[in-house]
Amino acid sequence: MPGITYPVNQFDITPFLMGSSLLLVLIVSVLAYFLIGKSEEYKELKASLAKIMNSFNELDEQAKLIVKTDLELNKAQGELDRRLLGLNTLQNLSRTISMTLDEQEIFQKINRDIATELGFSHFLVLTYEENSALRTRINIGFDTAMAEHIQSELCLDAEFLGALKNGTTFSSLNASQKAKARIVQLFENEHFILSPLLTQRGVGGILFIGNRYNAPEVTQGDEELITILAGQLAQSLENSQLFEQVYRSTQMLETKVAERTKELSQALKDVEDISKKKSEFISAVSHELRTPLTSIKGYASLLMTGKIGAIPDAVKERLHKINIHSDNLVKLINDLLDISRIESGRVEMKATPQIIRPMLDTIADLLTPQLKEKGVTLRLNIPSEMPVIEYDTTQMDRVFINLVSNAIKFTPSGGAITVNAHPNLARQEAVFDVADTGIGIKKEDLIRVFDEFYRVDNEINMKVKGTGLGLALAKNIVEAHDGRMWVTSDVGQGTTFHFTLPFQHKQHKTNPATGAV
Ligand code: ADP
Repeated sequence: MPGITYPVNQFDITPFLMGSSLLLVLIVSVLAYFLIGKSEEYKELKASLAKIMNSFNELDEQAKLIVKTDLELNKAQGELDRRLLGLNTLQNLSRTISMTLDEQEIFQKINRDIATELGFSHFLVLTYEENSALRTRINIGFDTAMAEHIQSELCLDAEFLGALKNGTTFSSLNASQKAKARIVQLFENEHFILSPLLTQRGVGGILFIGNRYNAPEVTQGDEELITILAGQLAQSLENSQLFEQVYRSTQMLETKVAERTKELSQALKDVEDISKKKSEFISAVSHELRTPLTSIKGYASLLMTGKIGAIPDAVKERLHKINIHSDNLVKLINDLLDISRIESGRVEMKATPQIIRPMLDTIADLLTPQLKEKGVTLRLNIPSEMPVIEYDTTQMDRVFINLVSNAIKFTPSGGAITVNAHPNLARQEAVFDVADTGIGIKKEDLIRVFDEFYRVDNEINMKVKGTGLGLALAKNIVEAHDGRMWVTSDVGQGTTFHFTLPFQHKQHKTNPATGAV
């Protein structure tokens, strides 16, 4: 290849070389400068990269944290939802069982759906019977044989039952290793809550709720929820038992009351029958006695007149006694007849409006000789505003005479008798008292003085003859006027007979419907 030849003398290359060198130096310098600059930039870039990496790592950490927090939040939300559902179920259940007073119905309200809503697959309720044996009342999730096994095993586990009786709630969350192992082995549920049903009278039973394996852990919230449910269940069971007891007692009481009422009405009927027979008997006997007695009295009187023939004085005296005794007998028979007639309602009270004062004045006059003889005073204390009262004068006359005569009989000389009267406007009746300062009547005799033929065993009665019929008759007459009679007395101080008389006699009362009399 032909070489290029340059004429030496034509071109001096020195300046060219120098220029080239300079250019080279310049380029190198520029390059060096550029490279140095790039290296700085690279360093900066590296630093930035490191920073970015750092930030990226931090962001990554934060992202992980956020994901973790999100997961936890989701879990918490799930737990919250579960608790909310549980609370809702518990609230509804509480409301229904607290309104139920039938034990059987309470147990029927708790079913599989409720257990599921509470978040559990197994639910067992055992209650104590009267003989301390356990009885299965709710069984969800266990087969019958297993429930029976649990029941009999629990009955034998004194330590375990003792803890439940003390109110301990066992749960898979906080039970001791030993207790947990025992419960898991017995109930075959890994996650559980076992709570006593505590009542005022002690432990009424046991509530178990649980999940088998691969289920979420029991939480503190679950434990609280189930403890509340156990409390509510126990309370409702106690209420239903109390209600049952009250109901049973009421039933028993009602049966007893009905029985006693039947017995009493039968007894009353018997008494009425006997009383009727007694009245009929007295009435018949009195009638039978009255006729021959009248004859005896008539013949005695005839003999005494001496018309049949002269009679010696001694015989006359005996005849006189026959007469007196006959009179007494006639009085007794008449009283007896009156009592039986009034009791059987055969005597009608001929009530007419009366002013009481004149009648009492007449009685006081009539009894003056006896009062004087005995040395006893009689005072009539009748207010002027005493209203008109409707009564049968003949019959009320007998009442007052009888009461005042008795008062004279049983009051020693120097004593006083007072007849008091006052109106009771609220009850539309007059109230009378016949009070004396006599010997009085002992408490045990007080209730019997109105009985027919009853006479207190005392000195006066031994001396003075009487029939024991006067008070019975007086009380009958007052009651036939729709009044009441009773007695109060202090031995040695005196006796007061009280009685009431309605202002208007029943047969004369105004008819409220028509206003007619
Ligand atoms: P009698 O007077 O004929 O015995 P009553 O029926 O009138 O019968 O009285 C019954 C009994 O009540 C009397 O025997 C008497 O023992 C008692 N008694 C009645 N009134 C009084 C009185 N004012 N004070 C004390 N005892 C009385």
